[in-house]
Amino acid sequence: MQLKGKTALITGASSGIGEATARHLAKAGAHVVLAARRKERLARLAKRIQDETDVQVLTVATDVTKREQMEALVRQAEEELGSVDILVNNAGVMLLSFLEKDKVDEWEQMVDVNIKGVLFGLHAVLPGMLKRRDGHIINISSVAGHEVFPSSSVYSATKYAVRALSMGMEKELARSGVRVTNISPGAVATELTHHITDTDVTDRFAKQSLTPLESEDIARSIVYAVTQPENVNVNEVIVRPTNRR
Ligand code: NDP
Repeated sequence: MQLKGKTALITGASSGIGEATARHLAKAGAHVVLAARRKERLARLAKRIQDETDVQVLTVATDVTKREQMEALVRQAEEELGSVDILVNNAGVMLLSFLEKDKVDEWEQMVDVNIKGVLFGLHAVLPGMLKRRDGHIINISSVAGHEVFPSSSVYSATKYAVRALSMGMEKELARSGVRVTNISPGAVATELTHHITDTDVTDRFAKQSLTPLESEDIARSIVYAVTQPENVNVNEVIVRPTNRR
């Protein structure tokens, strides 16, 4: 129960890595604020966490691309639970496509969710964290934020941006008591690939024989980062599958 009394806000908590992270942080004792657009999925997760733990759970339907909604989310969390001590900027979309397909709407959606969502999260929590001189921001980048492969140009651009933001935050905030961790997962079995519309990409995925990580594997690395002693700032974690079951 190392996180007893802390409050963690997780964006994209309605599935995959965000859902597993919320459960693991709650099991470590943190009250959790669950944010995403799908209300019914958040309600189901809230019930599960309440059955498994005795922490407080708040669900708030939120679109991370809307600045006012992110501000309202954090305001509500601070009013009802006192403070946001940990922010997990996890919400993201990976609409892989080849550039020649010109899926400009999907490029825009990735920029909005993956970059603006992280910035609006930072904007909403930072005043409270700076005031308390305490806080931890976890940004979920990707191995696609370390390398680019055909069809990942725009997605990778957004995840390189997340890493750049993590590095900047770390340098600017370290002395203010706000810690920053950038997590870069390799392939994880989630709903992330379900939204890809470029059939040349989905065909290639179908032929892959990779054994992906599970969301819990990433959740554990997040719990590791936020449960270190106060003098330790875990800045970068890369987690790749071994391809062994
Ligand atoms: P999922 O598709 O399972 O989860 C994505 C989450 O993001 C959902 O909860 C979704 O909720 C939320 N989301 C999407 N758009 C918005 C929005 N506009 N506002 C609020 N929430 C939104 O995928 P993962 O769990 O895999 O993805 C989580 C993060 O991990 C992403 O940032 C992804 O890029 C990153 N990642 C994933 C990898 C993988 O292989 N799975 C590898 C590397 C990084 P809802 O639709 O309800 O709003």
